[in-house]
Amino acid sequence: MLFNPNTYDPAHLDEGSRRLLRALVGFFEERGKNALVKSYIDRTWYDDFLAFSAKEGLFATFLTPAADGDGDKRWDTARNAELSEILGFYGLDYWYTWQVTVLGLGPVWQSANTLQRQRAAELLDDGHVMAFALSERSHGADIYATDMILTPTGDGGFTASGTKYYIGNGNVAGLVSVFGRRADVEGPDGYVFFAADSRHENYHLIKNVVNKQMYVSTFELRDYPVREQDVLHTGKAAFDAALNTVNVGKFNLCTAAIGICEHAMYEAVTHAHRRMLYGRPVTAFPHVRRELTDAYVRLVAMKLFSDRAVDYFRSAGPGDRRYLLFNPMTKMKVTTEGEKVVDLMWDVIAAKGFEADTYFDKAAMDIRGLPKLEGTVHVNLALILKFMPNYLFHPATYEPVPTRHDAADDEFLFRQGPARGLGAIQFHDWRTAYDSRADLPNVARFREQADGFCELLRSHAPSDEQQKDLDFLLAIGHLFALIVYGQLILEKGGVDDRLLDEIFAILVRDFSAYATELHGKTATTDEQAAWALAHVRRPVADASRDDAVWQQVLALVGAYEMRP
Ligand SMILES: Cc1cc2nc3c(=O)[nH]c(=O)nc-3n(C[C@H](O)[C@H](O)[C@H](O)COP(=O)(O)OP(=O)(O)OC[C@H]3O[C@@H](n4cnc5c(N)ncnc54)[C@H](O)[C@@H]3O)c2cc1C
Repeated sequence: MLFNPNTYDPAHLDEGSRRLLRALVGFFEERGKNALVKSYIDRTWYDDFLAFSAKEGLFATFLTPAADGDGDKRWDTARNAELSEILGFYGLDYWYTWQVTVLGLGPVWQSANTLQRQRAAELLDDGHVMAFALSERSHGADIYATDMILTPTGDGGFTASGTKYYIGNGNVAGLVSVFGRRADVEGPDGYVFFAADSRHENYHLIKNVVNKQMYVSTFELRDYPVREQDVLHTGKAAFDAALNTVNVGKFNLCTAAIGICEHAMYEAVTHAHRRMLYGRPVTAFPHVRRELTDAYVRLVAMKLFSDRAVDYFRSAGPGDRRYLLFNPMTKMKVTTEGEKVVDLMWDVIAAKGFEADTYFDKAAMDIRGLPKLEGTVHVNLALILKFMPNYLFHPATYEPVPTRHDAADDEFLFRQGPARGLGAIQFHDWRTAYDSRADLPNVARFREQADGFCELLRSHAPSDEQQKDLDFLLAIGHLFALIVYGQLILEKGGVDDRLLDEIFAILVRDFSAYATELHGKTATTDEQAAWALAHVRRPVADASRDDAVWQQVLALVGAYEMRP
């Protein structure tokens, strides 16, 4: 189930993508673990990795839409997901330079500005990375309040002045997509997205704001000349371009989390099994066995959900925007699951998880970032809640969405249109997936909880006051998210029944835990609290199933170790 560099061969992709991804794995493995660890500790900028990418045309091939390039170039979410996972596997910092290139390109590929599109394609060909300059230090998620000010020059252009903060690749980016607002226009009509160049003399790099190998810059534009041909979007379209770019980009956080967990898991399971205490391997302890099994099962669930979400991304269109729910799910749910996976393993390997020459100590630090970036858990959960009524109660009919590994260009992602109207999006009936595996005891048990959740909303719906209380709503949101999570896991399937049932045993426990949390909220009514307690369930136990899944965990012992 897990990515293993020793055996990796993405035969489901076309020959060109397969070759490039294998070459990428080869690059990291040949360079080896000592270099990976040392450059992380020394916070060395990864020129060699970017030189490899430039030579192979990796970013150019994967990040140029078919309309703007030739040969194998296309925007293909399936292969981008593979790339994202591999980069996460070798380190969040490598992933990050790629990720912010994705974000920097978002406003360009959504723009009708052919000159900038051409420029971006050429820059990619020349091996450049990009940057996305939305955030400012004092405004955080509140992008309405931007202080990057554009003053008209009278010839269709502007001069831009202001400071951006937390901007990845801002030290080197060939093209920086910058969000600002006009000095002479009030409100949303005044927004502007424009393309800047970090090498321009009016672009002043201040510093790296993080203590990392990756470069998260703060920079200042001082009277930076923005020519008419540098403008990518204006008015509300600029705002939509910002949100739609984040929609495309934030999907990559789930695969980054998966890659990080996979590498950490090889180290953790191998270490625990080979470490002898009192004459027995650490894995002989029942609690260790349980923790490592939980970590493995949660990781497999992360993979199944994310893989299936790719299909919805690739099949999206104006009449099918279901991906807009599955996307914040990958961002919020899969990345927080990643934290749990690392926590479980760290409990087991304890001191080993601090050692500087492991991958694990880096994973333990870096996995924490993913739930917090590109929208916190709260922001994404609040978004997910908008879909809840239609998802649960008003299903619609759609053509089945197949597995999508075909070499298509996902061009719809760059013409997603206005970012509003989320509450009106309908979904196919979630019950179908659950019905299809009602034979598995824990799928059936979880289904009781899911049906009960619908009953809660019907009989004891949140009051007007509760609807305004985001703390209360988030507790509801966590319960809802589990139902969506389970649906796509079931749709993906393809794992043996014991493993699938084990995944749902965990979902039953998680639902019970979130129900207990709801029970404890001050805002929860007595009826809602009674419902919560009544829906705390035990998973259906099966010792032979536990043992079969444990054997899968043990199969990871020694299966991969990065070359020194
Ligand atoms: C390592 C790193 C790299 C980054 N890279 C980039 C980059 O390349 N380009 C870029 O533009 N930005 C980048 N960022 C900025 C990042 O996206 C910001 O974290 C983001 O703008 C949110 O700001 P904030 O984290 O300060 O949180 P704040 O916006 O200050 O939020 C604080 C709290 O308020 C809550 N909150 C805010 N809004 C809502 C809401 N609508 N509903 C519910 N709760 C809400 C949040 O959940 C959070 O708990 C990066 C940040 C870091 C740390």
